[in-house]
Amino acid sequence: MYLSLVVPVYNEVENLTPLYERVREVLDPTGWTYELILVDDGSTDGSDRVLADLHAKDTRVKVLRFRRNFGQTAALAAGFDYAHGDIVVSLDGDMQNDPVDIPKLVAKLNEGYDLVNGWRLDRQDPFLNRRLPSQIANWVIGLTTQVKIHDYGCTLKVFRREVVKNLKLYGEMHRFIPALVGDVGARITEMPVTHHPRKHGTSKYGLTRTLWVILDLLTVKFLSRYATRPSHLFGFVGLVAFLLGGAITAVLGVQRLFFGMRLSERPLLWLGILLVVVGVQFVTTGLLAEMLARTYHESQEKSVYLIKEVLE
Ligand code: UDP
Ligand code: MG
Repeated sequence: MYLSLVVPVYNEVENLTPLYERVREVLDPTGWTYELILVDDGSTDGSDRVLADLHAKDTRVKVLRFRRNFGQTAALAAGFDYAHGDIVVSLDGDMQNDPVDIPKLVAKLNEGYDLVNGWRLDRQDPFLNRRLPSQIANWVIGLTTQVKIHDYGCTLKVFRREVVKNLKLYGEMHRFIPALVGDVGARITEMPVTHHPRKHGTSKYGLTRTLWVILDLLTVKFLSRYATRPSHLFGFVGLVAFLLGGAITAVLGVQRLFFGMRLSERPLLWLGILLVVVGVQFVTTGLLAEMLARTYHESQEKSVYLIKEVLE
């Protein structure tokens, strides 16, 4: 078994050596082959030197260094692309996740799952600006995606290789990994994991992060349901608006032409016109989106399906 550990690192200088030692303490006795991929996301606090030292000491430590800060999602994506292992583990570099959980998560994965997600049952973060927004986010994500787990935001996750190699992450999408992975039919489960308070360094996030979650959710939902048939979404809204607007303007037109009623004081006229214009725009957007969908799939030779196996 070959394990790849992927760790995003942004200004975690005091956490890196303890993390490395903890990983060794937990994984060396298992006898598994592993690599520890530390992705330096543009750190400016001297993390880069510590990382270079760790690599010099132990070649299982691999360091990917970004030119600037691209964000946690990009760091994870880089690690996933680089990983060589059959099993890929992601975890935070701030020692809040504990490598001690890795063996039991891997054992769970080997029961026949594609992703085992950590669940910080006893989360050691402040309530008001961390746990509460996170609970709300979890609730909203749970409501709208097919994958039902408790803690989407937990970075400690264990994947089968194929899963991360097919994963495309954008923006701040890492908390949607379970939803994205579930969307292509992966078997997902979760397991409680330990969580520690942050001992060194500071958290890199504020409250605004929760706002993005709502927008990201929209993207994920749209892509998973309508990526190959966007005109069904836009066209539907467009047609309804157009028909409604058409009906309103037709009625008003008849009243004006055949009954001599004046329309200058009928605000309904504005609504009718607005609906017709909006309707046309929505339908057109749908058609443009259809063309984009074709460009997206065909230019990258992406198929619109995923085959699990072929018996022939
Ligand atoms: N991180 C990163 N790039 C960023 C922000 C964070 O690589 O732009 C890393 C950070 O070093 C840590 C992990 O992502 O290893 C989680 O960040 P943090 O602990 O600040 O988040 P929190 O635990 O507060 O949600
Ligand atoms: Mg943290």
